[in-house]
Amino acid sequence: IKYISVSESAFIPNRNRNVWSLLAGLSGPPGAGKSTFIEALGKYLTAEGHKVAVLAVDPSSSTTGGSLMGDKTRMPELSRDRNAYIRPSPSGGHLGGVTRSTNEAIVLCEAAGFDIILVETIGVGQSEYNVAHMVDMFVLLIPPAGGDELQGIKKGIVELADVVVVNKADGALLPDARRIQSEYTSALKFVRRRSKIWRTKVTRVSSLKKEGIVELWKDMMQFRDVTMEEGELEVKRRKQYQIWMWSHIEHHLLYVFKHHPKVNPSIKEMEQKVSEGIITPGLAADYMISKFLE
Ligand code: GDP
Repeated sequence: IKYISVSESAFIPNRNRNVWSLLAGLSGPPGAGKSTFIEALGKYLTAEGHKVAVLAVDPSSSTTGGSLMGDKTRMPELSRDRNAYIRPSPSGGHLGGVTRSTNEAIVLCEAAGFDIILVETIGVGQSEYNVAHMVDMFVLLIPPAGGDELQGIKKGIVELADVVVVNKADGALLPDARRIQSEYTSALKFVRRRSKIWRTKVTRVSSLKKEGIVELWKDMMQFRDVTMEEGELEVKRRKQYQIWMWSHIEHHLLYVFKHHPKVNPSIKEMEQKVSEGIITPGLAADYMISKFLE
């Protein structure tokens, strides 16, 4: 399907509860092997009769005016697969725009019969946190390198993961992959659990050799079944709808605020003064809000 922009006024129904597409988020530091992994998992799933949509979320693409990585070349096999749909990150102008159009794309993909929807966040930062709260299941992909444990991956992100996948468990990297797997397994014992019934799993795969993919998929299915049976998934989805809604409102209002004729001219000056310590952030915010409400 093609990406269709739904007009501002159009009513978008809730995701159809009877369809139960699996909405999974995927994050990982650059070079972890996300595209290789998605290609391996995606090809496995389409061979099993699934329809897979991959939606990239890359807020940096809005500043560079388009998706940095040609997604067709990132996932050459999957992009040729009739049962797969890959959407590069939209350049929505800001994270809010990207989030909104991703939400709309999810609704459309679900309606179009894609039973597995992967939302891939590219680039580190806020988008990972946002996406983690907007999906049924959050998967964190990590490379087997780094020495001192969590190598730049924010602890907060690890806490949000339902499944941690150690990639590149092959060849000379296999011992490192094993070590990282056990490090993460022990580290996760001390992390506050998000779910009452699910303990975050740490698995090993080789996306390159397509090993461990079936086992990982079984874990993902187990997560879905367990959380669905216990009603956690339903609760999570209801929350998701609210989070999507507030995210739209927040970003829309921020946009309106920044473009308000009385606020807009003072933004640069206020930013400058705040960064130079001339006025406090709170005072600057109060000033701009008062301009907005004038
Ligand atoms: P991304 O930036 O997270 O999308 O990472 P890529 O998928 O582009 O992979 C980064 C590099 O890691 C590439 O050179 C891949 O060939 C390599 N790579 C990805 N998966 C594996 C794997 O399972 N094993 C090995 N040995 N290398 C891999």
